[in-house]
Amino acid sequence: MIRFVYLIVLACVCAGSVSAQPLPNLKHSDARDPFHPIQSWLPTPGVYRTASGAPGPLYWQQRADYDIDITLNDSERSLSGECRITYHNDSPHTLTYVWFQLDQNRFRNDSAAVQSRTAPSLGGRSPFKSVQSLLAQETFDGGYNIDSVTLAESPKRSSKRSARESESELHHVIVDTMMRVDLPEPLPAGESTTIAIAYHYNIVDATVIRARGGYEYFDEDDNAIYEIAQCFPRVAAYTDYTGWQHDQFLGSGEFTLELGDYKVNITVPADMVVTATGTLSNPQDVLKEEWIERLGSIHENTKPTFIVTPEEAKANETARASKSSKTKKRSGKQSGKSVETKTWVFNAKNVRDFAWAASRKFIWDAMPVQIGDRTVTAMSFYPNEAEPLWSQYSTEAIAHTLEVYGRYTFDYPYDVAISVNGPVYGMEYPMICFNGPRPEDDGSYSKATKYGLISVIIHEVGHNFFPMIVNSDERQWTWMDEGLNTFLQYLAEQEWEEDYPSSRGPAEKIVPYMRGGRQRPIMTGSDEILQFGANAYAKPATALNILRDTILGRERFDFAFREYCRRWKFKRPTPADFFRSMEDAAGTNLDWFWRGWFYSTEHVDIAIDSVELYVIDSGDPDEAHERKRREDDTREDTPSDELNRNLPRRIEWQPGLKDFYNSPEYDEDKVEESDRKTYQKFLDRLDEDERALLQRTTQFYVLKFINKGGLVMPIPLRVYYADSTQEQLMLPPEIWRYNSKEVKKLLLTEKEIVRVEIDPKREIADTDTANNHWPPKLEPTRFKLFKDEKKKNAMQKARGDDDDDDDETDSDEDDSDDRDDASDKSEKDSVEKVSKEKGAESETSDSKSSTGKASDSEASDSEASDDKPAKEESARPGKSKPNRKRKSSAADTNAGKSE
Ligand SMILES: [Zn+2]
Repeated sequence: MIRFVYLIVLACVCAGSVSAQPLPNLKHSDARDPFHPIQSWLPTPGVYRTASGAPGPLYWQQRADYDIDITLNDSERSLSGECRITYHNDSPHTLTYVWFQLDQNRFRNDSAAVQSRTAPSLGGRSPFKSVQSLLAQETFDGGYNIDSVTLAESPKRSSKRSARESESELHHVIVDTMMRVDLPEPLPAGESTTIAIAYHYNIVDATVIRARGGYEYFDEDDNAIYEIAQCFPRVAAYTDYTGWQHDQFLGSGEFTLELGDYKVNITVPADMVVTATGTLSNPQDVLKEEWIERLGSIHENTKPTFIVTPEEAKANETARASKSSKTKKRSGKQSGKSVETKTWVFNAKNVRDFAWAASRKFIWDAMPVQIGDRTVTAMSFYPNEAEPLWSQYSTEAIAHTLEVYGRYTFDYPYDVAISVNGPVYGMEYPMICFNGPRPEDDGSYSKATKYGLISVIIHEVGHNFFPMIVNSDERQWTWMDEGLNTFLQYLAEQEWEEDYPSSRGPAEKIVPYMRGGRQRPIMTGSDEILQFGANAYAKPATALNILRDTILGRERFDFAFREYCRRWKFKRPTPADFFRSMEDAAGTNLDWFWRGWFYSTEHVDIAIDSVELYVIDSGDPDEAHERKRREDDTREDTPSDELNRNLPRRIEWQPGLKDFYNSPEYDEDKVEESDRKTYQKFLDRLDEDERALLQRTTQFYVLKFINKGGLVMPIPLRVYYADSTQEQLMLPPEIWRYNSKEVKKLLLTEKEIVRVEIDPKREIADTDTANNHWPPKLEPTRFKLFKDEKKKNAMQKARGDDDDDDDETDSDEDDSDDRDDASDKSEKDSVEKVSKEKGAESETSDSKSSTGKASDSEASDSEASDDKPAKEESARPGKSKPNRKRKSSAADTNAGKSE
């Protein structure tokens, strides 16, 4: 008590003495609180979106119905159309204008996308395709030509208008990839208006210029495959959280669209086969009788049935080749002969977009898939060049995706799901997607190509769920569709076959990226993302996988994830709605998790710093004496002690110097009777339980952990005991709540601990496992030897000496590049392949880091330069390679990029 008072007094004196000085703020060495709520970063909940993450009572969204006539000009590779858009203003606001997206304008040479492209790295070696693509952009006459914008009859308001008014030309302003159409009179809440837009544009050669749609030309048979998208002016989204979504289309951030019904008439040369979003309404007008019959019989098979057989497709493309050979010009285009046409009519309800494909080269197969009590038709369209891979895997992969994704989200609501092979590596649209992988010319294929195909199809079909139905804002947030989709892609891949070579999902696969530099958080606008595939696909997918298997457990995660999907099906969620829904339904505060994984670039690196052992001291003076004696006995002499041992000592030869303290009777550590009495008194004051506790042999281990990476995570721990048993512990993330840099954990055990390991199952993406062991574990690092080969000098070369040593020195490197070992390759490919036309970033830095080279060197990951395959996504493990019959550059550049 006295001492206590003394301390208080002292403290007061000290405070007084420094009060005039500015105080350094050292109240806590760790100023940051990773558990602070992220509420302040999220939009305030209200009547549109609730704090639980669900749509609010006054949630609203706009709607746009489309009635479109499209005509394909095969010889000119151009398209013309007239689009009547009925826009329903379901917002509570009166609108005076409507914004449209003119995505084709991205291909204009003066577009913001082209003009803001940063320089590619030239010098050294450049692939032909990259340079060809750069040059093609200079000469391609791309972009929309808007022929007219008029007010068509508005269903609800037509009675008020005269015929002249209803066909009046509307004032419009084009701003790069957007167009504002001014309404003749304000459109009140709850009203609709119909705007008609006539237009035409040149279709991009998607094998040369990276695009999310375009054509691929086959010289051998003078045919093209058309994969057509962004082919009509689409209403920009108008939302409660951002008003008009007016971010320009720069190539990376994809599309933010309104849901609606579509009726589309597609007029093409009569011998083409067409497929599209929606159901074909006039099969009798466009299909051969036997095709209709085969379509009717697909339910008899459990495997895909050919509707157009490979032989029929071959005959169709060959007929065209022989027909056109007489009139063909050097360009491969038909000269002015009139071409017979057919019009295919497609209807789609409640979709946010429309895309289609057409070719004379298409084989067509179909298979029924049972989804709940409905039957969905899975279909694939591909040329003979895609065989034998496509008939074996494409339609099965579609069916697999619908089944697996349905379990984690909701039943696929549409009647068809379609996969098309063509120039686009991987791109998604409602009900239909474009996928690029093909075998070699001889029909053989690598493991990487096979799994690349399956993965990209799972991924692109999976996009039906995100963002086609859970209609997130892609222009703003890439991860909301790509990340969630890549997460489910991983689950679907793992259900395809055991040990499927998934490139994204497992925690350890994200480590090279997390360890590397040049990053932005996942919560970064789509067009500003660095390392697109790793940031927006792999990292969120991995985070969700860890959340599911390590943090929440599958039951709670799956319930919450499904609840999010159910709440936002056919609605437009924001990141806050996802974060809040997951927390709300899982019943767990995950703010620390979103903050660390989605809002920061920190990584996981938890180290075990020390292990201390404490045991109970009974206080028995005899025991203490015995312990000290043992310690003294085992204590080693110092070198001086040893060297001094035989020194003559004065007291030995000068009697009279010794006294009691030099006698054997004296023992400095001797236990006195008084010590024993004191101890006995202490014991007497204890009750029975307290005395028993004094006798316990429990060992108190204090483990100290250092958070080197910054990201707070649970600590999976394996403890090894001396009796050869082991124990698995999971210290919850909240252990870091008082200090996010270092914490101590007490383990009580009756057994001796001999070894401790952090994250033995590689589940938290710990980037440095070398510091995960106590005691430290020494793992050898291997290095290879090589023999230096002398190069021939100029005189030797002039003599004609054989010079083959170059090959030898290179061989090692080449090996590693050509290795078709999927596990290694898959990482690389996933990154490379992923490019869809999205944009722009190559993922080479990813692949580098995955191979352990230069994880920090992001030089090749050029920001948005289009010379690199765009950023696309990762759908696949396969390795990208030039495919057969593709002559042009970008096909290969694109190969491997999916979105
Ligand atoms: Zn994608």
